[in-house]
Amino acid sequence: MGEMRGSAVILRMTEYGDRDLIVVMLTESSGRVDVIARGAKGSKRFSGHLGLFYVVDFLAQSRSTGALATLKEVRVIRGFIGLSQHLERLATASVLAESFVKSSVSEETDPDAFHLAVSSLARLDTCDAEQCLAVMCHSVVHLLRLRGVLADLWHCHRCGVVLDGNHRVAFSVPDLVPFCPTCVSRTQPQSLISGTAMRWLQTWYDHWDLSVAGRSIQDGVVHRDELWFLYDQLLLPALMSLINGRIQSAAFLQTAMGRGSS
Ligand SMILES: [Zn+2]
Repeated sequence: MGEMRGSAVILRMTEYGDRDLIVVMLTESSGRVDVIARGAKGSKRFSGHLGLFYVVDFLAQSRSTGALATLKEVRVIRGFIGLSQHLERLATASVLAESFVKSSVSEETDPDAFHLAVSSLARLDTCDAEQCLAVMCHSVVHLLRLRGVLADLWHCHRCGVVLDGNHRVAFSVPDLVPFCPTCVSRTQPQSLISGTAMRWLQTWYDHWDLSVAGRSIQDGVVHRDELWFLYDQLLLPALMSLINGRIQSAAFLQTAMGRGSS
């Protein structure tokens, strides 16, 4: 790749040896980019400019195609310090970060995913603990949409009847194709959701503005349970199918939300 520069959001950092860090970024112009930050640990180099969930301007260089690029310069544009102040924010941000990293292709232009990741983290940075799950679900719906998983949420896949959000809907799992109540019994395996939950999905799908997520739910035990069901039974299986693997942070989120293991 030679030289690469631009805007990126840092979604993963792991230690490498005594002094270096491997940094995984989602960039605006080139999709996922993995770089090594040499001498980043325990020195003033990059000090204050490298951090999880930071939005940065960067310059990286690599000697040959396929080799890990070296981070040469990095300047923080925006850090989301609110994410580490609440367990729920940090846990939902972690699941999102992992989902973006694992569903992104290296060095392939992907500006929509970059902007979705940044706006999701910005929204999580200031939202109430109760709203974190809704914001994360909203963001996952758009990520699945970007990756071609969610196509049509308004018609039964079998008979074509309009799904108006007044009746229960069944989704095949993990490909998330919707079926009306009449066609439900003929589809396997499936997850049944309420008309209310279906309206949330349709609203999230229709609106890129992530503040809609907070307004679309009312707090309360029933709603929180329903929201968790949407995440746990529909969106998480779809994510795992998309990346063909596990979302490791899901266990962290389960603990943060006080949910037992299923
Ligand atoms: Zn039908």
